[in-house]
Amino acid sequence: MSSCAAMPPAHPFDDDKLREECGVYGVTGLPEAANFVALGLHALQHRGQEAGGIVSYDPDTGFNSARRFGYVRDNFTKASLMETLPGTVAIGHVRYSTAGKKGAAIRDVQPFFGEFSMGGAAIAHNGNITNAEELRHDLIERGSIFQSSSDTECIIHLMARSMAKSIPDRMEDALRRVEGAFSIVAMTRTKLMGVRDALGVRPLVLGQFGDGWVLSSETCALDIIGARFVREIEPGEMVVISADGSLESRRPFRPKASRSCIFEHVYFSRPDSILGGRSVYETRRQIGVELAREAPVEADLVCPVPDSGTPAAIGYAAESGIPFGLGITRNQYMGRTFIEPTEQIRNMGVRLKLNVNRALIAGKRVILVDDSVVRGTTSQKIREMILDAGAKEVHFRIASPPTAWPCFYGVDTPERSKLLAANMTEDEMCAHLNVDSLKFISLDGLYRAVGEANGRDPKAPQYCDACFSGEYPVAPSDMIAKGFTVKAAE
Ligand code: SF4
Repeated sequence: MSSCAAMPPAHPFDDDKLREECGVYGVTGLPEAANFVALGLHALQHRGQEAGGIVSYDPDTGFNSARRFGYVRDNFTKASLMETLPGTVAIGHVRYSTAGKKGAAIRDVQPFFGEFSMGGAAIAHNGNITNAEELRHDLIERGSIFQSSSDTECIIHLMARSMAKSIPDRMEDALRRVEGAFSIVAMTRTKLMGVRDALGVRPLVLGQFGDGWVLSSETCALDIIGARFVREIEPGEMVVISADGSLESRRPFRPKASRSCIFEHVYFSRPDSILGGRSVYETRRQIGVELAREAPVEADLVCPVPDSGTPAAIGYAAESGIPFGLGITRNQYMGRTFIEPTEQIRNMGVRLKLNVNRALIAGKRVILVDDSVVRGTTSQKIREMILDAGAKEVHFRIASPPTAWPCFYGVDTPERSKLLAANMTEDEMCAHLNVDSLKFISLDGLYRAVGEANGRDPKAPQYCDACFSGEYPVAPSDMIAKGFTVKAAE
């Protein structure tokens, strides 16, 4: 049912950021649904560049699937491929491989497919099932044969063991066994389904296009096909959309207060998306405003580290009154140009991707605004480039609090020992990066920027902020079983 192309290696110069691992998309009620899914996945490409897949259903040819390594635009634009994906219902997935899963195989590329007595179902998910290892062990003991290393496959096997009479009912049964932070799109021959975990950590939105419905990780991927944003799928909600266009809302999980990922606002989501009723761009700009209030410094220029630092730098400049300038230019076409970089090219590192505008920087006290500091390796190189260009001072302002804890909810994070903020105080990081000053936005400031006037108030709506606070709203069971110690917030 599927085939593959050669897999490009992970980007060799871009390993100092947290990476969202997946984006999901689903369409029903539209002719050539797979073409819409391909466009949606293209708009979600920032959420995963390693591989993508689409499954569609057509009454004449049944379920059809294509899974490929590489960018959506390089695969799912070819008529010869898209013609193999007919039908009015389709789902798709883009993924990013984590450092620990290098050498991933096509068998790990979603969507996954299962054949049940009442028909087939395909499923794709964004996030992480935190008890997947325990479930997998249990299922294997009871005879399940896994074909991939993905935790998504657990859901298929749990559905296979359910005695419920319909696929949506089996999905509900399966969901009651899984813990974690995830958004799911799934399909049968006639239905499109969407699920958000009990806390709504990972995003999923609903859109409408003509007589059809669309599910997407982000609203920007509704815009690309001209779909109307209807609403977010609620935390703990499962929607089942039938071929006649009717939509049923189910509640497979015990009701809990929402804890959506706050880092989506800082970095993962596209700035043109709407998240939690707020413009991502406007939130990022407001983060810059808060940062300027919390961490002012005398300087001549506010300069973003492209691209995700740009809205926060605009906000910082507006609030501080210090001129804004694009002192660093990103090479948009770097992509995967160097498939197998030599050591000499590897040493050029960040210079291949970013270049400093000397004419703007020379002789100035520069405030660099970046979205995060993970390992700190890129920050060091950028400081060198700015000083080489003749800057008098370099001040880093970071649009997120110190990232001191790993994410277990579907985001690729280095292990704790590699996180700069897990091992150093802010002053030590400043000395380590050898900059004139370094300041991070506070957690309260970040909450204010996403609209919580009182900051991080336990009585007000909360977000998942575990990578900053170490308070994990869903206990990462598999990691705890391996000895990881967390401050469970539940
Ligand atoms: S740990 Fe951080 S990145 Fe992961 S879901 Fe929570 S806020 Fe988002």
